[in-house]
Amino acid sequence: MKNKKLKIVKYPDDFLRRKTRKVRKEEIKNPKFKRLVLDMVKAMEEEKGVGLAAPQVGSDLRLCTVAVEGEVFVLINPEIKSYSRKKDIFEEGCLSFPNQFFQVERPIKVKVQTLNLEGEKQKIKADGFLARVLQHEIDHLDGILVIDRAMKGNEK
Ligand SMILES: [Zn+2]
Repeated sequence: MKNKKLKIVKYPDDFLRRKTRKVRKEEIKNPKFKRLVLDMVKAMEEEKGVGLAAPQVGSDLRLCTVAVEGEVFVLINPEIKSYSRKKDIFEEGCLSFPNQFFQVERPIKVKVQTLNLEGEKQKIKADGFLARVLQHEIDHLDGILVIDRAMKGNEK
């Protein structure tokens, strides 16, 4: 199979607002699905993003990839199970909003439940930057964009 370069869907494309559907367990073993995951990881790296959600490449699957501190995560059907009460504010970018940055307040810790590439349940306990990126990408899977979370008057 040949690698196909994925095109990033940019705001205000309506596709970014669509709710995704869960990946079926048997789909995870499908070569087409594995190819999509590999292409997403590649696109994320090429675009120097720290995360990429399936709707950003025109797929309606509940799937995202994250690359933080040299580690790559593939999250299938991720759900945030808990948030810390403590929040902080940090600047976020998004591949669907090139060259724009937004101040966003988010909980500093999250627990995420996801499936891995073997279709097994996995829990990720994250804090700091990883927690922020996970929240940003999982938002995409619910049609929520960084502009919805940006602090008013702080858009740059
Ligand atoms: Zn984004």
